[in-house]
Amino acid sequence: MARRTIIAGNWKMNLLPESGEALVDSLISGTENKADLEVVIIPPTALIPLAREWVVDSTIMYGAQNCWHELSGAFTGETSPEVLKALGCSYCLVGHSERREIFGESNELVGLKTHALVQMRITPIVCVGESLAEREAGTHFDKIKTQVESVFQALDQTTWLRLVFAYEPVWAIGTGKTATPDQADEIHRFIRKTISEIAGPALAEGISILYGGSAKPSNAAELLGKESIDGLLVGGASLKAEDFSNIILAYN
Ligand code: PEP
Repeated sequence: MARRTIIAGNWKMNLLPESGEALVDSLISGTENKADLEVVIIPPTALIPLAREWVVDSTIMYGAQNCWHELSGAFTGETSPEVLKALGCSYCLVGHSERREIFGESNELVGLKTHALVQMRITPIVCVGESLAEREAGTHFDKIKTQVESVFQALDQTTWLRLVFAYEPVWAIGTGKTATPDQADEIHRFIRKTISEIAGPALAEGISILYGGSAKPSNAAELLGKESIDGLLVGGASLKAEDFSNIILAYN
């Protein structure tokens, strides 16, 4: 089964209505539609209804950065996956390292959120990755294996194929340090092997694994050129129209 190629821009808590709209306008005019590439913007939650209008008449898709794992109830300040669905979100990030570190999200919570999203037929982009200390201690494979396994354990087998993963080494996020294409390739292959052990080789072949961590125009082509890398999750460089457009144009 052919895997989807996705280039997604995680705006984090950045941009305002005017600057967001200007960015999307530039992306629409500065890039070409490629049938086999999904371009996704992931704005802050409050901008999602506007994003829906900005991308009308384009092929750009949009998603959310986070959600809660219940569909409704007394969860002040949280966002229901059902609302994200009603707003037309195709994707939602889960387990971004900033959520894990700053907001204390556990593998268990990430699993619950992933379950809620697949039930709503929103594609979760599950972020996994190691810290610098874990890489230096050589525990990064174990860390990533546990993160991947816990997501599968939280889901019914029938929904496993709806997953997308993003390998995001924490030491490369927002630091300007990118994993080399070979380092990323090694972990992507390891993630796919882990999935294969859980779910079988056919399913593992169908799940897209994106790379994230200081992706930029100068390294996008080489990263995207790796057979194991099915797209990019871009933070800082997705806030600049020229940079994000050039990353999209690097895909061929
Ligand atoms: C991210 O936050 O998902 C990310 C990849 O950030 P950056 O590209 O800025 O490293």
